[in-house]
Amino acid sequence: MPADILTRIKQQGVVLGDGGYLIELERRGYVNSGSGRETVGTGRGSGQYTPEVAIEHPEALRELHREFLRAGSQVLQALTFFGTREKLRRAGYGEQVEAINEAAVRIAKEVAGGKALVAGSVSRTQLFEREGPSAAGFVRELLSEQIRMLQKAGVDFLILETFFHLEEMRIGLECTRESGLPVIATMSFRPKTTECSDGHSAAECARAMVAGGAHLVGANCEQEPQRMLSIVREMRRAVDVPLAAQPAAFRTTDETPCFTRTPQFPDHLETLHISRQEFTGFARAARTEGIGFVGGCCGCNAAYIRALATGLGAEEGLHGG
Ligand SMILES: [Zn+2]
Repeated sequence: MPADILTRIKQQGVVLGDGGYLIELERRGYVNSGSGRETVGTGRGSGQYTPEVAIEHPEALRELHREFLRAGSQVLQALTFFGTREKLRRAGYGEQVEAINEAAVRIAKEVAGGKALVAGSVSRTQLFEREGPSAAGFVRELLSEQIRMLQKAGVDFLILETFFHLEEMRIGLECTRESGLPVIATMSFRPKTTECSDGHSAAECARAMVAGGAHLVGANCEQEPQRMLSIVREMRRAVDVPLAAQPAAFRTTDETPCFTRTPQFPDHLETLHISRQEFTGFARAARTEGIGFVGGCCGCNAAYIRALATGLGAEEGLHGG
């Protein structure tokens, strides 16, 4: 077995994660974006981009894990994003919440085969967007339940990701405590890059996530590497722990610095795709930027992970671990 994630970061400096699952599996026809029945990207959707592919098309999920592993990923994220009971219920899969979470972790572990670590993905519930802070109690219940399922299924650590509200992230971090598992926590910034949805700067988010027990803090999704760098740098100045960064592979603008708010999301994303080369450059800068965990989010297939691996440099023993 590889060393645990924190030891591995200490030893290597930078650990390479994997890419985005839901957008890629949607593109391949195995995940529903929801765009056929509702406006996607509001945060209020009924069930778009949920992870039932783990039980409905396990071979498709297995194949994408294999591609990331082959590209150099040292961590495979189980596809448990949007896998809380309430979100799955909205999508029509409330009865299968245990089966979906269990299958997603099992498949990731099978493919990892001891060569990569397996992280459980825990994302926002969307209830803060739908109902506001009054949802806090229910959110706590839902996230606690999912984290228990992920631990039982045998994940090596947790990645809390794509939280828009710091308040919800704080609750998520509290829910991880009982598990004793290492935690990477990353916020997503939408619609602005200067503050999260409940008005906290990147520096404030970073400090709060460290205070909440996260071992690494950072940002994921919504922006391309270059734009995410400003967020990462602000966090770097605020905290001493290593950072985590998983940018998206879509070009955003100063007016709309988040791809899920562009008119191209989700059915015209191909027109926003950036080159994998931008990820090579990002990985090259990772060490000096204080990043200890780097991967890709939406839009990143295996080619982008290979590009990150190239940037980190094979001479650093990336594939040797
Ligand atoms: Zn993403």
